[in-house]
Amino acid sequence: MGGGSDVTETKLTCVKCGKPAHLQCPKCMELKLPREGAAFCTQDCFKASWSMHKSVHLKAKLSTIGTGVPNEQNFETINDGWLYCIKKGRARAPKLPHFDWTGSLRPYPISPYRIVPTHIDLPDWALDGIPKTEPNSDLQHVVEIKSSEQIEKMRECCLIARKVLDVAAGMIQPSVTTDEIDRAVHDATIAAGAYPSPLNYHFFPKSCCTSVNEVICHGIPDARKLEDGDIINVDVTVYYKGVHGDLNETYFVGNVDETSRRLVQCTYECLEKAIAIVKPGVRFREIGDVINRHASMSGFSVVKSYCGHGIGELFHCAPNIPHYGRNKIVGIMKAGQTFTIEPMINAGVWRDKMWPDGWTAVTGDGKCSAQFEHTLLVTETGVEVLTARLPSSPDVYPWLKL
Ligand SMILES: [Zn+2]
Ligand SMILES: [Zn+2]
Repeated sequence: MGGGSDVTETKLTCVKCGKPAHLQCPKCMELKLPREGAAFCTQDCFKASWSMHKSVHLKAKLSTIGTGVPNEQNFETINDGWLYCIKKGRARAPKLPHFDWTGSLRPYPISPYRIVPTHIDLPDWALDGIPKTEPNSDLQHVVEIKSSEQIEKMRECCLIARKVLDVAAGMIQPSVTTDEIDRAVHDATIAAGAYPSPLNYHFFPKSCCTSVNEVICHGIPDARKLEDGDIINVDVTVYYKGVHGDLNETYFVGNVDETSRRLVQCTYECLEKAIAIVKPGVRFREIGDVINRHASMSGFSVVKSYCGHGIGELFHCAPNIPHYGRNKIVGIMKAGQTFTIEPMINAGVWRDKMWPDGWTAVTGDGKCSAQFEHTLLVTETGVEVLTARLPSSPDVYPWLKL
C-alpha cells in the first residue's frame, strides 16, 4: 500500500480528519476515482484510513465487472483485491494466485457464510457489506465524550467480547483449524445476544480475525490446522446494545520457540505499558513512544500501517492511535473517551505486505508478528480496561503466574 503521492492543487480536505489534504491515494488515481474521496492530509491519516478506504477501490471494481461469476480475464484484474474470495462463493480460489509469499504460511479454503438469527441486532454493514454511518460520521474527526449511559453499554458489550475471546483461547491446540475457532466465536457471540462485528464489515467473510505466525492482523479463519510451534492472534469484536467492544490476544500452540515466546511476552508488556500512561491530559502520540521504546529494547519492531482507534457506536472512529514512536498524531486524552490500543510487534522488519485476498497483512520478511488489544475508557483519574481479563480467563501466560 505504498503510500500517497503529492497533490498539487490544495483545496481538498482529508477524508479522515477534515484538514487540508496534500496527499492523494495512488490506487484511486489509477482507477480515476473522484479526488474528493481520495485526499489525505498526512501519511498517518492515509495509513489509518486504509483498511476502510480500500473498499472504495473494491466498489469501483465491482461496478465495472458486474455481478456475475468472473471469467478468467477479469479474474486477473480483480486478483489484487480479495474480490476473488466473494466471487468464488466466499471460498478462496482453488489455485493459489501468483504471489511472492513472505513466509511459509498459505491461504486455505474458507467455509460458507455463517447465519445470524433474526433476533440479533445488526450493524448497518451486516446485509450488504458496506458501512454507511461510519465513514461519514463527524466522529471520524471529533473524539466523542461518552455519556454514562453509553459507558454502561460499553462495559456490558466489552465483557461479552472478553468472554467470547476466552472461549477461543480455551480451544487453542495443534490440529484445531482457525475455521473451528471462528465457529466457536460466532456461536458464543450469538448465544450472548450480540453480533460478531467483523462479519461482512467491508465484505470480511468471517466473524473474527485469526492471525498466525507472520500474519500481522486481519487473517481470515480458514481450513488450516494449527501446528505445534505456531503463535496465533484471535481478534474479537462484538456489537451489543448499539455499541462495539474490541480486543485480541496472541496464544501459543504447543511448544513455541524462544524468539516467539519473547515476542509475545514483549507485545503483552508493550500494551500494559501503554495502558499505564493513559489518563486525562496525556497526548495520544505518547502511546507510540512508550510502545516503541519497549519493543526496540528487545530488538523487535513496531508495525506502522495499522493503528488503535476510537470505538463506541462506531466500530472505528477518532482518535487514531499509532503504535510507533515519534508519530505526529494530535490530541490529548479526556475523561469519557473510549479507544483501543493494539500494538503489533514484529520479530524482524516492521514493514507489512498484503496478501492477494486484500485482508491478510503479513510481515515483509516472513518472521513472526504478535499483537494484544484492549478497549479502554479514560476516567477522571486514569483508565478503566473495559476488556480486562477475568478470574475465569484461561491461564495461558506464564508471566502472569506467580
Ligand atoms: Zn480488534
Ligand atoms: Zn481494534
